[in-house]
Amino acid sequence: MNKAVKVCNICKSELSAPIYDSRSLQSLTSLCRLYPGSTQVWFCTCCGHVLSNPLEGTDEYYATEYDILLDHEDEDQIYEVKGGEITYRIDRQLAVICQKVQFRPGMKVLDYGCAKAGMSKRLDRQVPGMEFYFFDVSDRYLEYWQKLAPSHNHAILATPAHWENQFDLITSYFSLEHIPDPVASIAHITSMLKKGGLFYAIVPDIFGNIADFIVVDHVNHFTRTSLAHLLQGAGLSVVDIDSASHRGALVVVARNGGEVASLERDDGLQQQVQELAHYWGTASRRVQQARVGRNGSCAIYGSGFYGTFIYSMLADPHEVTCFLDQSPYQQGKSVFGVPVISPEALPEDIKTLFVGLNPAIAREVIAGQPCLQRPDLRTIYLDS
Ligand SMILES: [Zn+2]
Repeated sequence: MNKAVKVCNICKSELSAPIYDSRSLQSLTSLCRLYPGSTQVWFCTCCGHVLSNPLEGTDEYYATEYDILLDHEDEDQIYEVKGGEITYRIDRQLAVICQKVQFRPGMKVLDYGCAKAGMSKRLDRQVPGMEFYFFDVSDRYLEYWQKLAPSHNHAILATPAHWENQFDLITSYFSLEHIPDPVASIAHITSMLKKGGLFYAIVPDIFGNIADFIVVDHVNHFTRTSLAHLLQGAGLSVVDIDSASHRGALVVVARNGGEVASLERDDGLQQQVQELAHYWGTASRRVQQARVGRNGSCAIYGSGFYGTFIYSMLADPHEVTCFLDQSPYQQGKSVFGVPVISPEALPEDIKTLFVGLNPAIAREVIAGQPCLQRPDLRTIYLDS
């Protein structure tokens, strides 16, 4: 179970009641897995940060459980598909960093919280002659680092003292959101940057990807103001915080030294965050309060994030007989031990269908499928 958070992990202000509480027996992780206990989210009115409870035993979780795409070295998530052409997330990340950072041979680059160091591998190919260093909390990625740098350039859990003031660039790709004490991490990063060196980070953006708001292993949901507070507090000057270049993410560039601007205020932020909390609060309650029919079984349309969210919110997930999914790649698989079948194969005795799709498209998708228009089938959407 989670322990209560009382202060903001960026500005240390005391926090009042959470703005979101799933009140569920289980939560969903960023890898769409179930985690015991509910999810609470707080908003800090002082620095604009949005945060959740740290997972119990965070270090152990990332050292043993967090196996993001570990099976294949080049496995990656899809960023977008346009005209049949797939762009992977790492390709987009590479294009964006190359727009924002001037790389040169001889540069000393530390990949901080780097896991398989996939981005460093790509940068090494793009700009030969750079010197890479790697840091993470787990030793399970060493085989990947060894291909890019000698073992004295590797550090696990702690970095050697002689790494201080050494680096031209420190990168962090989708790792800060997992770190319970980001202030300590940014101080650590700053101590290893040369004067004038750059810190480059990419983190999820709850406004670009609203699903990030409720994933239980993202203890930090950074906003522009909380990021600025964090970086400037460590003595870094913010060069750029960009929400447009990488959909669903904030891309951050900061410099060690230089003028630290006065902190940005965003008067509309609290309202925006409250709207997100309201959205997810309503969705959680709709699922929890839905009475499944007399025969006690139901189906969930969609086996991706929204579908697994519904499963995690149900008081009795054993009532879920199947997930429906149009994707032939999903059909035949199982999610939490529940089979994924095509919508046409929905058994007739199922009278309740939860729609686990992005609400922006959910009604249109369901309306387009004659097999789901049975008069005896009750359809429950996440929004009212
Ligand atoms: Zn704060």
